[in-house]
Parts: sequence; C-alpha cells; structure tokens
Amino acid sequence: MCRHLGYLGPAVPVSEPITRGPHSLRVQSWAPREMRGGGTINADGFGVAWWPAQAPGDTDALDAQDVEPTRYRNAAPIWTDPAVDDVLSQIEATAVLGAVRSATVGMPVERTACAPFTSGRLAFSHNGVVPDWRAVCAAVSKEVGGVDPFELEASTDSAALWLLVRALLERGADPSEALTEVVRRVVAERSEARVNLLLGDGEQLWATTCYHSLSVLVDDTSAVVSSEPYDDDPRWQPIDDRSVVTVRPGHVAIESL
Ligand code: GLN
Repeated sequence: MCRHLGYLGPAVPVSEPITRGPHSLRVQSWAPREMRGGGTINADGFGVAWWPAQAPGDTDALDAQDVEPTRYRNAAPIWTDPAVDDVLSQIEATAVLGAVRSATVGMPVERTACAPFTSGRLAFSHNGVVPDWRAVCAAVSKEVGGVDPFELEASTDSAALWLLVRALLERGADPSEALTEVVRRVVAERSEARVNLLLGDGEQLWATTCYHSLSVLVDDTSAVVSSEPYDDDPRWQPIDDRSVVTVRPGHVAIESL
C-alpha cells in the first residue's frame, strides 16, 4: 500500500526529501520493506505538494497562514519521470508532502487518484485501503455531515477519506481531531480498514497509524514523517499502531487513537 512522507525544515529542493537516503521514498516505490500484505510495489503514480520557500526580506511575502502548496502528480511510476531530477530539483520549499501509489484492485490508475489531495493550505495522503469504501464512506459522511460528494476527485477510498477530513476541519475540528475521528468512524464501520493518514499545512504535519508502518525523525530545525525510514539514522522513532502524531521542528506529540 502506498508510501508517504512529509518534510518540514530549512529550504531544500522539492526533489530532495523524496530522494533522500539509500531507502528514499523513490526507492520505496520499487523496493518497499514494510508493505504488510498490501501490494508489492508502488508503481501506480506519485505526487508531491510543496510550500514555497519565501526569500527573507521579501516585502511581498505572504504570512505563513496564507501560503498554499503547489502540486505535481503523475500516474506513471516515479522512477520513470525525469521531472523529479530535472524540474523539482530547481524549486525550493520549506515543506514537502509526497506519496507513491499502489492502486487498490478496482480503483483507477490516473493522475487524479494520486495523493496528495489539496485544499487551501492543506495537503493530504492516505496509505491503506477501506474495503467496501463507497458504503463505508457514505455511512461516515452521514454521521459527519457537511460532505459535498461532488468534490470527490477520483473514484477511490483515499479521495473519499479526504472529503471526510475536510468536512470535519471545516466544522472547526483541529487537524489531529479530524484525522482521529475519521479513522475511528471508518474502523467502527469496517474493522479491517487500513487508514494511515498524513496531513500537512506547511508548518505542521499530522499522521495516523492504523495497520501500516510510520516513523518520525525530528530535531530542532526539521521534522520528517515517513512510512519507512529513508536511512539508518538512530533517531528515527517508529510510531506504534493506532496512534495519531503531531510534528513540527523540535516537537513530537503522540496520542493513542
Ligand atoms: N487504496 C488507495 C488507492 O488505491 C490508497 C493506496 C494505497 O495505500 N495502496 O489509491
């Protein structure tokens, strides 16, 4: 099942966090280590959203709250796309959220189905599968309220989960609460659902673990959340299953789901 990664910290080329280390997100697309029975490789496309670095002293600079991510997606395997090395390496960002996709059987392989999904300042990814997702997400959407089904970007469980998260955020839930509530409600409908969610706003990252792996690497200046560690840095912290984690540079908070 897909792999995802979020980075916050000093400005880097957008390609850097997704190609960093001997076991980078790009390597995880063809040689993941911890798929836990959900597919073998992540060859059904990829996507990356980034929040641009703003030059110090730029008088036209936006407040951090107003910076919206830019996004690049492709339904082809990440290792076939020269834009990663040739184009994304030319753009600097202080926050990056990337995903490589292994489409669940029955779901379309197309650009619109590739995470990250974005809205305003937010970018979102899902690693996992919701069996019977139409019925499950329809039931949860009735409980949550305020979901606009016409906003569904692709016919996938991940796109539907994003609508549920957005509805809760729009109702005033904080990001960690919104992710927690969606996971709890989905699992209440189908206990075998796998719902590792990742959300970023350019300043913080929030993520859940529900069946799939996740690790974080945080120091005073940067924070990374990743399905699998990209190197053997001993500071990687594996996150227990059924957790929700909030990270930013210098800060990790883990709660039980
Ligand atoms: N089930 C989703 C999809 O097919 C999520 C991808 C995954 O984790 N394999 O897009």
